[in-house]
Amino acid sequence: ASKRTPLVAGNWKMNFNHLEATYFVQKLVWLLRDAHFDFKRCEVALFPSFTSLRSVQVLVEADKMHINYGAQSVSVTTQGAFTGDVSADMIASLGCAYVIVGHSERRKYHPEDDANIVDQVRAVLAAGMQPILCVGESFEERRQGIELDFAVGQVHDVTRDLNTEEAAKLIVAYEPVWAIGTGMVATPQTAQEAAHAIRDDLAATFDRTVADTVRILYGGSVTSKNAAELISQPDVDGFLIGGASLDAEELAKIARLA
Ligand code: PEP
Repeated sequence: ASKRTPLVAGNWKMNFNHLEATYFVQKLVWLLRDAHFDFKRCEVALFPSFTSLRSVQVLVEADKMHINYGAQSVSVTTQGAFTGDVSADMIASLGCAYVIVGHSERRKYHPEDDANIVDQVRAVLAAGMQPILCVGESFEERRQGIELDFAVGQVHDVTRDLNTEEAAKLIVAYEPVWAIGTGMVATPQTAQEAAHAIRDDLAATFDRTVADTVRILYGGSVTSKNAAELISQPDVDGFLIGGASLDAEELAKIARLA
């Protein structure tokens, strides 16, 4: 990391009901406060299911917790006859700061293509939140040696439709698909190389200010054992964490390292 405030984001995926979510948030904040964690130096954000967002909001507001939270996906439409969808305004009204967009599991299990992902990013920005855009190559692209072009291309597919002001609000999560939930963490060099390539592309598409503003997270089998080395890379500004974010002690440890 560097001058940018690191962000440690826990993607709970489809885990924890609202009672479990409430318990988790209380435990995490207790652990962090007990360790005199400096919430200004490193930001912590949780991404519960839609069904838990209201409970998390009530808890965070009542106890003045310095925890941010957001949703794991969003509808591209604003309202109407779209059964089962949740709009960006609905998410924003729950005090969410962020929405994860284009996670590889959404790209795989739902019809979320590039056009849909661009529209989600637009919807999140229009509602005054920040999108965490997930990109990253599969093992096949890495085998072919095109992993950097692939990840940068996925970012570019979104940023080419944004203006400078919008681009500056983006957060990018570089998550190589082969590393997600597999225990095969990328090396710090691999994470740095990808984050650097993405930042360079932002500088080329926009300017150095945008490139220096956008936080680029690494995601894929992050634990308290590998977090310190990864965050020591100059272009890695934090983590998007799946499995390890389900354990409050582990997540608190990672936040303290970041
Ligand atoms: C993720 O799904 O965003 C992720 C990085 O998962 P894990 O940490 O479990 O690899």
